[in-house]
Amino acid sequence: MLGQMQDWPLLVSKFLTHAETNHPKREIFSMLPEGGEFSYDNERMAKRARQCAQALGRHGVALGDRVGTLAWNTHRHVEIWFGASGMGAVTHTINPRLFPEQLIYIINHAEDKVLFLDVTFVPLIEKIADHLTTIEKYIVMVGKDHMPETSLPNAVAYEEFIGAEDGEYTWPAFDENTACALCYTSGTTGNPKGVLYSHRSNFLHTLVALAGDTLGVTAKSVILPVVPMFHANAWGIPYAAAGSGAKLVLNGPHHEPDVLHRLMMEHGITVTAAVPTVWLGMLKYLEATGKDTGKMEIVTIGGSAAPRSMIQTFQDKYGVRVNHAWGMTETSPLGSLGSENAAIQDLSDEEKLDVQCKQGRSVLGVEMVIKDDEGKILPRDGETSGRVMVRGPWVIGSYFKHAGGEILDEDNWFDTGDVACIDEHGYMQITDRAKDVIKSGGEWISSIDLENAAVSHDAILEAAVIGLPHPKWDERPLLLVILEEGKSVTFEEMNAFLTTKVAKWWLPNDMVVVEDIPHTATGKISKKDLRDRFKDYSFPDA
Ligand code: AMP
Repeated sequence: MLGQMQDWPLLVSKFLTHAETNHPKREIFSMLPEGGEFSYDNERMAKRARQCAQALGRHGVALGDRVGTLAWNTHRHVEIWFGASGMGAVTHTINPRLFPEQLIYIINHAEDKVLFLDVTFVPLIEKIADHLTTIEKYIVMVGKDHMPETSLPNAVAYEEFIGAEDGEYTWPAFDENTACALCYTSGTTGNPKGVLYSHRSNFLHTLVALAGDTLGVTAKSVILPVVPMFHANAWGIPYAAAGSGAKLVLNGPHHEPDVLHRLMMEHGITVTAAVPTVWLGMLKYLEATGKDTGKMEIVTIGGSAAPRSMIQTFQDKYGVRVNHAWGMTETSPLGSLGSENAAIQDLSDEEKLDVQCKQGRSVLGVEMVIKDDEGKILPRDGETSGRVMVRGPWVIGSYFKHAGGEILDEDNWFDTGDVACIDEHGYMQITDRAKDVIKSGGEWISSIDLENAAVSHDAILEAAVIGLPHPKWDERPLLLVILEEGKSVTFEEMNAFLTTKVAKWWLPNDMVVVEDIPHTATGKISKKDLRDRFKDYSFPDA
């Protein structure tokens, strides 16, 4: 027997209609890549999103066509998101930090029909435009007055593109399983692979993002998603803002701590989210200037492990609650988040901090287990570690165009490539990426735990640990550190410090002070590059 409720397809255009109807005057503020700032409200944003949909339709974009965006977080980018997906096309957010060859591969593989790009990326795309085989039109995200001279074929200024439309447009209804957005993720081997979200998956993901224990977004929130829209849907925040009535503040191309801080103060930001490197810079800035975090209540940190010292400083010094979250492009991205549950609420502050350093509990809608290499589900005892496997309505089923073939096991679990343990209360703790774990004498050493321990030393600004070949132990850890300005620490001092934090046999066999630590296009430490850089290194005791 079927239920007898309405069939109301879960489409992302519904967020926009909700925002426009119920929070019409709620503000959206944006910094602009061409310079300056802009602010308006949901009502005007929704109208311009409809104009964008109309313009795309007029230029031949139809259901299922891919619409590329190469852009920072701006109001125009939000309009395109809603406009393109809302009309049934697929918004393909492209990471501008990728190498030109990767951009060419991704754009051609996605078969983007049009490309929206920030004015700052025009020179980059001009250089590769001859290789982009499917793009029929380039739309530069500026008004006519900022439109540059360009060799890009069929280029038009965004304001002209949408300005020709009247916004009298009704969002079409279609199957909620229709593709909505596309985001490529680069693995360590092979070409980047596309993760193709559906309207249904993004809609359900947003409902959970808005749950009380998740990002902390309410109708009263003022939210700054520092995390870029090209990085796993900005963790769903633009949808969550429209769905809740929160004010959205967009930092455009600016990631400098002083600019982010100004936005925090001027707009009274209450909720924000980004990878640890952004917060590392911010905490340093606050320390140096003696400034505070204003009205900030909650910061979500994810994408890489949030160091204990970072969580502690935010909470103890600035009174900002930290949500340590885990996820990946393949999980839309919310997988788990470390809000308190009843079992830990009465623990001491130190014990709570231990829990917060973990990557959190699965959110409703994401099933999570850890399995050994034989596929056996391992106990939730907080010690046994295995491969993190997930499944759920916003977890990937297969990559775009079936790249990589079948990716689920016989019970539909997706192997995340992360290694973790899960405790009795459901808190998962990543110990490593499967490929970064250091295999020493048949045992595993967690490079992430070692890094976290090392950065809690006050002479260390950033730390990375890689496993390198060792004749006796197979692999041993090498610690690479960037020092805080004017501070120093010897290898012996560091190991004496680490002895209080990790098992003795985990201690690095050497430490090298470096000027920089390479990061991937999504802000993670690039272990691949570090292993390449140190491929000729040999340990003093080898
Ligand atoms: P991406 O698809 O680029 O977002 O990368 C996803 C990967 O980032 C995950 O599989 C993890 O390895 C890593 N990651 C995400 N969040 C965390 C976290 N809180 N702690 C440690 N690693 C994380």
